[in-house]
Amino acid sequence: MNSANKLSSLLFSELTRTEIGQWAPEATVVLPVAAIEQHGPHLPVMADSLIAEGITSAAAALAGPQIPITVCPVVTYGASHHHLIFPGAMSLSTDTLIRTLRDLTDSLVSSGFRSIFLLNAHGGNEECVRLAARELALRHPVVAGAASYWTIAWEAIIEEEASASLGKLPGHAGGFETSLMLSLRPDLVRTDLLPLPGRGNKAAPPRDPASGPLIQRHGSWAAIDGYSDNASEASAETGNRLLGVISRAVADEFVRFHRLTFP
Ligand SMILES: [Zn+2]
Repeated sequence: MNSANKLSSLLFSELTRTEIGQWAPEATVVLPVAAIEQHGPHLPVMADSLIAEGITSAAAALAGPQIPITVCPVVTYGASHHHLIFPGAMSLSTDTLIRTLRDLTDSLVSSGFRSIFLLNAHGGNEECVRLAARELALRHPVVAGAASYWTIAWEAIIEEEASASLGKLPGHAGGFETSLMLSLRPDLVRTDLLPLPGRGNKAAPPRDPASGPLIQRHGSWAAIDGYSDNASEASAETGNRLLGVISRAVADEFVRFHRLTFP
């Protein structure tokens, strides 16, 4: 292990109670939050959880030489009630998710952590992770952060995607997520079903979903059969490049966040 990260593993679950107790007060801990839900006809329901794990572990490995950091197991279940119209969702209601995040982050405080970042990988969790972080810092003398990975890496994603014409960003089960999955777990992508039927991959000018007003239309997920674009341009190579720039941007955010807590 490098000199900055004195923890014997980047993974919280591999540490002993002694190591956690010793290093928690000066480390940043990351809690990834994802979902189990349908991802079109061609991706597994654990797509967001796999992507969360891939990005968080790569980003922590990049940040590790600079700061003490450890990554919790992914909160696999998220707020996916909007996908219950399809098979495959295991969803927590938003109030249950917020309470779950409260219990898990309170547990981290009990272990001694003072710098806690919730990294979100599923659109339906967006407001929940932010609320959880906001209230965590009210209850305890800690610094709490929360963001979706695509918001942290938005500029880099736009730049990287400009040549790839993937479709909606980050979208859902479209070219963007399919490329990430082709990079992380190609064995789980049903490429024989691509491109998906029903619509092209042309999208409106990309906009970070966390910017501007939230607009929700009843029945919209059924209307698009649960995927945002046809993934015709998805590739492992694009996924590799996207994962690279996203992981670097998220790592930079972890370092910046850590230095806010421990200036
Ligand atoms: Zn997803």
